[in-house]
Amino acid sequence: MAKLRFKAIELAQSRKPIEIKEQLKRSELFGKNVFNENTMRQYLTKEAYKGVMSAIEHGKKIDRKIADQVSSSMKEWALSKGVTHYTHWFQPLTGATAEKHDAFFETIENGMAIEKFGGSQLVQQEPDASSFPNGGIRNTFEARGYTAWDPTSPAFIYGTTLCIPTIFVSYTGEALDYKTPLLRALHAIDAAATDVCKYFDKNVKKVTSSLGWEQEYFLIDKALANSRPDIAMTGRTLLGHSPAKGQQLDDHYFGSIPSRALNFMRDLEMECMLLGIPVKTRHNEVAPNQFELAPIYEEANLAVDHNSLLMDVMGRVASRHDFKVLFHEKPFSGVNGSGKHNNWSLSTDSGVNLLSPGKTPMSNLQFLTFFINTIKAVNNHEALLRAAIASASNDHRLGANEAPPAIISVFIGAQLTQVLEELEGVTKGKLSPEEKTDLKLNVVGKIPDVLLDNTDRNRTSAFAFTGNKFEFRAVGSMANCANPMTVLNTIVAKQLKDFKVEVDTLIDKKDLKKDEAVFNVLREYIKSSRNILFEGNGYGEAWEKEAKRRGLSNNKTTPEALKARISKKSIELFEQMNVMSKIETEARYEIEIEEYTLRIQIESRVLGDIAGNHIVPTAVKYQNMLIENVKGLKEIFGKDFEEHASQQIQLIKGISGHIEAIHAKVEQMINTRKKANNLKDAVKKAEMYCNEVKPFFEDIRYHCDKLELMIDDEIWPLTKYRELLFTR
Ligand code: ADP
Ligand code: MG
Repeated sequence: MAKLRFKAIELAQSRKPIEIKEQLKRSELFGKNVFNENTMRQYLTKEAYKGVMSAIEHGKKIDRKIADQVSSSMKEWALSKGVTHYTHWFQPLTGATAEKHDAFFETIENGMAIEKFGGSQLVQQEPDASSFPNGGIRNTFEARGYTAWDPTSPAFIYGTTLCIPTIFVSYTGEALDYKTPLLRALHAIDAAATDVCKYFDKNVKKVTSSLGWEQEYFLIDKALANSRPDIAMTGRTLLGHSPAKGQQLDDHYFGSIPSRALNFMRDLEMECMLLGIPVKTRHNEVAPNQFELAPIYEEANLAVDHNSLLMDVMGRVASRHDFKVLFHEKPFSGVNGSGKHNNWSLSTDSGVNLLSPGKTPMSNLQFLTFFINTIKAVNNHEALLRAAIASASNDHRLGANEAPPAIISVFIGAQLTQVLEELEGVTKGKLSPEEKTDLKLNVVGKIPDVLLDNTDRNRTSAFAFTGNKFEFRAVGSMANCANPMTVLNTIVAKQLKDFKVEVDTLIDKKDLKKDEAVFNVLREYIKSSRNILFEGNGYGEAWEKEAKRRGLSNNKTTPEALKARISKKSIELFEQMNVMSKIETEARYEIEIEEYTLRIQIESRVLGDIAGNHIVPTAVKYQNMLIENVKGLKEIFGKDFEEHASQQIQLIKGISGHIEAIHAKVEQMINTRKKANNLKDAVKKAEMYCNEVKPFFEDIRYHCDKLELMIDDEIWPLTKYRELLFTR
């Protein structure tokens, strides 16, 4: 084993940056492999173009005739670019992307062949794909799953394949993927927000939800990563002693990007340009060999697709540069983990960002309406929002004093806190002309210039307002953004819907003017949402206590957190907003619970294997070397030998102690696992894995890491942290 380690190190150290040629400007590359508006204008008839655009903009159905025209033009475009295959591209509940390629090629009579791609192949496919998680939705009688074209996300070419973004649903119409509920949630927020916008601007016809994600990741030399069975099997290191130098000097953060990594990034960015992913920012992150990449924000559905596509493309480009990308939230203990900030905002078809303060008192009242409704939505559904980011890997990060805590709270900054305080004092019912003027001039009217110099940014908050958007920072780096985006858009949609009812009631029943009614409802919302607002240090122990007092949830593990997904309140919410039926919500819960168990189970097996079959034999080998040495010393020095062999004897004893402990713990862990595996109830099983199996990991690791410090570096089998993290 040690041979593999040293071979890998030698290989990693001999690598040279892969040369990258940039012949075209980024803007010239952008969208070249996308069947976007521009391409459609060139390739489609006027009628087909109009059909697709009205499907994108108004959700209109595309009829067969138009689908035939579109598919034929898509084929023509794709063939002109050397494409041979097409695939429906979808996001099953594994979190990854899925594709099944079919050739355009088809045989006809007389032994001849043609390239064919009809409307029916574009619109719907039955990929079978029965092995994807479905939470019991696909029973054996109705096991078929269908993919159906999502025209709101444009088709693209990757390699020699035309990829058509699709939803994935069961024969009976239930969602089997991430995209379907997201599209429904985006529809819900469009409807609810457009209705509310009409108080302020009658001409608004559509509200779009935007997402700008920031993706953190580690880049590790491929040979080094492959030399570690834990990284290969679980995406993280299950053991390994911290190096003498970690991130304490902060010398990696925003430093100059190492040239091998930089060339990988440039290569990746060019791929992204071709695919229409508008990547813009790149930099070193806090931990050694950790980086971040962020695009310009886009419509949420497209942004989610682009993030999923990016993660796939990153893996492939990394391989060309002899790297492995680690998306795991906590690949290394002792240095920072990775997250995926989700920047979220709403904007109208007239181009107004509803979360950006405006120029007039009226537009600011609109801003406050959306701002306060979002806060209230998070206040009402904080536990569900936490559930939306729960995973075995994200559990390592949340609450680990480097990332947001497991408590969801909203940070808004000192100035807006003050604005809310003033609004809380608004008179109940009708407002006097003086009060109205005062509100317009001194409260609502003052927001823009105040926010311009709002630079206080609280990095410890899970959900922070950052000037013209909210930033959901607790999302895991491995996660598919669709899940948190579905929940966020759904809870805000529900909140806006309730808001509209309340305001209308005040207008109709209490004879209030529109702005009076809005002020009245917002005042009550501020009062009832106070608990979710927190400006202090989210990492501190004091906040845990305070949050508890406020009644906020603090679910530190996935099995605990996921319960909020199937609470009566959540099930009703999803049903009422037409985002997910009860069956769909329950199925998702089942899938997530099971995935949790499987991940911990795999980690447990891998750890048992490494500890028992790699670490212990190495320890025994080294102990034998020491014993030989002591025997030799005894031969030379006779009864005085102990004077010269005391260190060695200490080591021999120490090693025995650790070996014994590892054996005992691994055995106990295996027995506990067996018990857990016998449980019929999936939730109980997950809880047992969480509360009884997982705690062994730290114990076993402790002893293995101690051995790493004792044993001769020459024979240590696992590539060490310093080698993984500091090889550039
Ligand atoms: P940081 O949060 O690291 O300081 P920025 O504030 O510049 O960085 O933006 C981070 C991300 O926020 C980018 O991906 C950007 O596209 C996105 N973003 C900026 N404005 C909006 C918006 N109105 N809606 C959604 N995302 C946005
Ligand atoms: Mg950010």
